[in-house]
This record gives sequence, structure tokens and C-alpha cells, in this order.
Amino acid sequence: MAANPPLKVLFLSAEVVPFAKTGGLADVAGSLPKAIRALGHDIRVCMPRYGCVDRERFGLQEIVPPFDVPVDKGREPASIWQGTLGKDVPVYFVDCPRFFDRDGIYMYPDDAERFIFFCRAAMEMLRRPELNWQPDIIHCNDWHTAIIPNWLHTIYKDDPFYSGIASVYTIHNLAYQGIFGYRVLEVAGIDKYGFIYHPGMADLGEVVDLMARGIYFADVINTVSERYAQEILTPEFGERLDPLLRDRRDRLFGILNGIDNEVMNPATDPHLCANFDANSLDRRAANKEALQCEAGLAVSPNAPLVGAISRLTDQKGFDLISRVIDPLMCYTDMQFVLLGTGDRNYHDMFTALAQRYPQRVAVFLTFNAPLAQRIYGGSDIFLMPSRFEPCGLGQMIAMRYGSVPVVRATGGLADTVQDYDPRTDRGNGFTFEAYDSMALFAALVRAFETYKHTSVWRRLMLRCMAEDFSWARSAKKYVELYYRAISARTPREARPFDQYGVTRPDREA
Ligand code: ADP
Repeated sequence: MAANPPLKVLFLSAEVVPFAKTGGLADVAGSLPKAIRALGHDIRVCMPRYGCVDRERFGLQEIVPPFDVPVDKGREPASIWQGTLGKDVPVYFVDCPRFFDRDGIYMYPDDAERFIFFCRAAMEMLRRPELNWQPDIIHCNDWHTAIIPNWLHTIYKDDPFYSGIASVYTIHNLAYQGIFGYRVLEVAGIDKYGFIYHPGMADLGEVVDLMARGIYFADVINTVSERYAQEILTPEFGERLDPLLRDRRDRLFGILNGIDNEVMNPATDPHLCANFDANSLDRRAANKEALQCEAGLAVSPNAPLVGAISRLTDQKGFDLISRVIDPLMCYTDMQFVLLGTGDRNYHDMFTALAQRYPQRVAVFLTFNAPLAQRIYGGSDIFLMPSRFEPCGLGQMIAMRYGSVPVVRATGGLADTVQDYDPRTDRGNGFTFEAYDSMALFAALVRAFETYKHTSVWRRLMLRCMAEDFSWARSAKKYVELYYRAISARTPREARPFDQYGVTRPDREA
């Protein structure tokens, strides 16, 4: 059988490391394309040029001068600037000062318009002569780019340039769906098709849920761990899209995220005061001491130092901590350092905690990538008690840096962390099942008890560091997914006018 030919893939993401990052999506977008490129495929990345993406710092060059992009009833010019990810992955930046020349990435009142514009500019960019490139696959990620599979079935369906392109849609977190009103269909130029309709999901006929559209129209869909791909088929984790996901389950896959082993490398990480690897693990103690100093904690080599780096939202499970922190402080000698930003109530809660236990709890309520590395490299235990977790990168990075994870067994956390069993000496961390503060308490206490046995703990650390979370394996699975998308490509006429149909709203458009 002839080998599959190399693919041409346009990978669209709202955030990409090192250019702009708020969370795990940026890590994935900054590392997966490099691994796919290394397999010999022509993958190119596209993202908005936000104000924080400095043209000079990243050596960007204008490759497509301003061209008109349809948006709403009018047009808005965009130009395309090119940069590079890693050694050789081209990155196309959509430049449009009106929408993107702002300090932040999200949370603006016109976010729907901004990301629809980004997608439309990316689509129109493809047929510009300066590019001279036509992808086989468009790989969309999260709600920001979910409109594209919908467009391939509507405004672009009769256009020969686009009709052969297959779409892949990756759900990084089902909790953020991009839900807007009918007006967004006008902005996207598809108001004449109206709302989508699915039996058992009445609200889809009343709102524009961009993620639901990605799921509904993409040729294949995946999420970022196998466990989460199963979990989201249930009402508990399905964020009310589970009927639609169950309906599409023959096209839904789970592929575990990887981490960039070159960037996430304790042997070379410039942010650590002492670099180390499995052969020089003793050097790691200097990082713990430096972290204790930096955080204003008592310098104590034997106190188990628990680290957490996270967005502070209900998803991440920190309400569990608040209920057990006092007994933990009373009955154990743990120290706790937290780095994170998010909801006000968690900021208040952790600020109060740090004030109550000044020598033992340190809290940094900010986004700080170098400090994150120092916490991975200096903590003994890494805490992720998530309520749900599509994949989770924190626990993988922590393991690579020898910080043993304590996690709730859900989603990607369950796929990557196996509970330590002292009888068999198997496992690479500590897990708990029920979303319950006492279950978390028990897991932490088991970790602290194990930590007292220096040689056992050392073995655990080495086992964590030996785990292979590199992208190599998962990148191959993405390539298989791309081929699957090509063979599963739905004829453009088949959706949306299939058994579900599309309804127009009850008002005149
Ligand atoms: P999510 O994508 O849900 O935020 P992940 O665990 O998949 O969670 O990825 C989070 C990424 O963002 C990790 O690389 C983590 O180190 C990083 N991160 C989260 N919060 C901060 C912060 N306050 N400062 C620096 N890095 C952070």
C-alpha cells in the first residue's frame, strides 16, 4: 500500500505560545504544530496579531498587504504578517487594528465579532495569490474558530477552492462555548440559514452556540484526552451539549495533549536556579529552598511543599481546599504556594489564607510564566483537584520537573496520573475520586506520609520524570485524525439540510 502523502494543514488558534497565552490552548497551539511538522507535514498556524505581539521582537514580515474582509454588512481591511514557530512552522498573523490592537486577548464586548472576523480573514487569506497555498485540512480549536466548519457548509460550499477542504474541530474545554445572540449570524453572513436545530436541545434554536456549530458541522471532532471524550457524552460533563455529542460520537475522538519537552526541561530551564535531571536529582533541593525564600515561606527542606498553578475558576476545584486547609495546617507540616488569577472570590479566599498562615502559605495572584517554572521545579507535590479537566497540562509539566501530582481522577488527570499503591509500589501520584474535600484531605495526607520515606519518594519522583508526555505519540494520532477527516468529509449539501435541518427564527431576518 502506498504511504499516505504529506498533508497541508491550516491550524487556527486564538492563542499560541510564545506569542500570546492565557491557558493550555496556547501551549498546545505552540507545540503540536511543531510535532506535526516534524512528521513531514506542511502545517501552518494562524492567529490574530494582538497588541502584545510585537512585530519587531518576533521578526514579523508583512506578506499580504491589506485586503477587504467581509464582516456583518460591510468590509474591514486586514493584512497578513508572517512569523515562525520553532524552527520552521510558518505563523500567519491577521492584523486588523480595529479588532486586535488591544492589550488583552479576550473579554471584550465585541469578542464574537472579533473572532468571526479573524476566521473570515483567515479563510480569505487562503486564496490570496501571495500565499499560493491550499490546505487539505483546516484544524479549528475551541469556540473562537468554530464558525469555519459551519461556513464550509454554507457560504463556501459551492466555491471550488474550499469544497475539497476537510475540517477538524478540537474541543479544549467544553465549558467555554461562545454563546451569543442571533445577531452573530448576521456578523458571520449566515443569517439566512438561521439557528440549528437538534431534537432534545431546544435552546440551540434560541441562541448561537459557536462550539455547538463546530461539533455539528466538522468532519471529525476530538477532545484532548480519552477520558474526557467519554465523559462529555454524559449530562454530568456534557455542558448540555451531550445530546449533540452523542449524536456525533462516531466522529468524536480523544487524543491526549503533550507538552513541549524542549521548553519544559528542568535540565535547561533558564528560570531555575539549579538545573537538574534524573541523574542529578540532588540538585533539585536548591530550587525548593529558592522557592521558599522567594515566596517568604519558612526555609525547611523537610516540610512537604505543595504547589498549584492555575486559573482560579470553579472548574479547578479550589473550593475543596478552603474546607480542609485549617486541619491540614494543624495536623501536617505542609507548605502551600499558589500562582493563579481568576475569580474574585478565590482571590479573596487565598489572600485571607496567606495572611492567616504567613510562613506556610504564599499566594501570587498574577500570571507569571517564569515563576510557574520555579514552582514546578521547587515544589514537592503539585495539586490539581479539578472538578473536571479536559486534559490538564500542569500535572504533566509538574511530573517532568519531579513534582509528584495529587489530583482528582477526572478527564486527562485520570489518563495521566495513576494512584500510588505502597503494597505494589505502582503509580506515579495520588488520586481521589469523589468531588469531596475529605477525599482531597485523605489523598494529601497519603502523599505527606509517603513523602516521609525519602527513598520511596525519590523513586516516585524518578518515575514521574520518566513518563513520556512528549507530543511524538499524540502528533501521530492527529495525523491519523486528519486522514480520517478527509475520508469522512461530509458532502457539503448533506448538512445542514439533513435529518435535523436548520430553522429560521420566528422573526423576519
Ligand atoms: P487550562 O488550559 O484549563 O488553564 P491547563 O493545565 O491545561 O489548564 O494549562 C494551564 C497552563 O497555563 C499551564 O501551562 C500552566 O502552567 C499555565 N498557567 C496557568 N496559570 C498560570 C499563571 N497564573 N501564571 C503562569 N502560568 C500559568
